Amino acid sequence: MENQLIPLGDDLYYFDLFELGKPWHTSAYLYNGKKKILIETGASPSHQNIVQALRELSLSLTDLDYVILTHIHLDHAGGAGLLAKKAPQAIFLCHPRAKRHLVDPSRLEQSARLVYGDTMNTMFGEILPIAADRILAQEDGTTLQLGDRTLHFIDSPGHAKHHICIFDPDKRAVFSGDALGIRYLSKSTQWGFDAIFPSTSPTDFDPQGVRYTIAKIASLKPQIILHTHFGPSDANEALESTLRESMLLATLADETFAINPTQDGFQEALIQFYRQRIQDLGHDPQVDISKLGIDLMLNSQGLLYYEKKKHALV
Ligand SMILES: [Zn+2]
Repeated sequence: MENQLIPLGDDLYYFDLFELGKPWHTSAYLYNGKKKILIETGASPSHQNIVQALRELSLSLTDLDYVILTHIHLDHAGGAGLLAKKAPQAIFLCHPRAKRHLVDPSRLEQSARLVYGDTMNTMFGEILPIAADRILAQEDGTTLQLGDRTLHFIDSPGHAKHHICIFDPDKRAVFSGDALGIRYLSKSTQWGFDAIFPSTSPTDFDPQGVRYTIAKIASLKPQIILHTHFGPSDANEALESTLRESMLLATLADETFAINPTQDGFQEALIQFYRQRIQDLGHDPQVDISKLGIDLMLNSQGLLYYEKKKHALV
């Protein structure tokens, strides 16, 4: 396996989890300070990428002290149980609402099956439980001193109700999971420019939650946002575009629901939306939108679900 750790300074690195075998889509972060802290595990098929990243720092799984999960969607935490088994001393940190699903992943598995269907097992592999006494849920506003690192945990709804962001005040960096948009790298889309769009995947998209989260994070005055998809962004750019595009998407969802409240209707509307926004942002709108891959399906499903919830249909 090729070298994959990318340094961010101060013993912090990130690396590619090669979700679904594809590069530049899903990353994880690793602190190699007095405590070894991994942020995000990806799904079980990414396990070897974690082993390899540790190896590049002459570490092994048994050196891991903490594993932080921003939220429990499978592309972020599906492999947490497998990692727990192989890294027996690691303590897992997550949102209070996430803990019971890590202890008993059956409901998580069920709802993921509704989204992904029977391809779920080949996509995300096995989802193993984690013993409750190895999981420390972090309430909003908690600060932990982990070795030479201070980390603040922030409840961050909008993408998922079980989402935390983590602020490192020394680096002025926020590990944002999917709460502050997805950074689509040109390396992945071949569009010729990077773009930040929100993830509205089912079932918790909530524009008011996005607004609340962004105000709270902005008040910390971060300099960089560390997305799970993919890598670092300038903080102002990520905060502004996520807020702006989320509000536009909420309006788009309202309009589309009134005209064509179907999965196809939403997917078509979303394709037009991306083209329009790419043009508004000064780029060629004739890019290949299908490069957004599965996110196109997930975001349209999530927007339709948001409307159904709003109309008390689910
Ligand atoms: Zn994600």
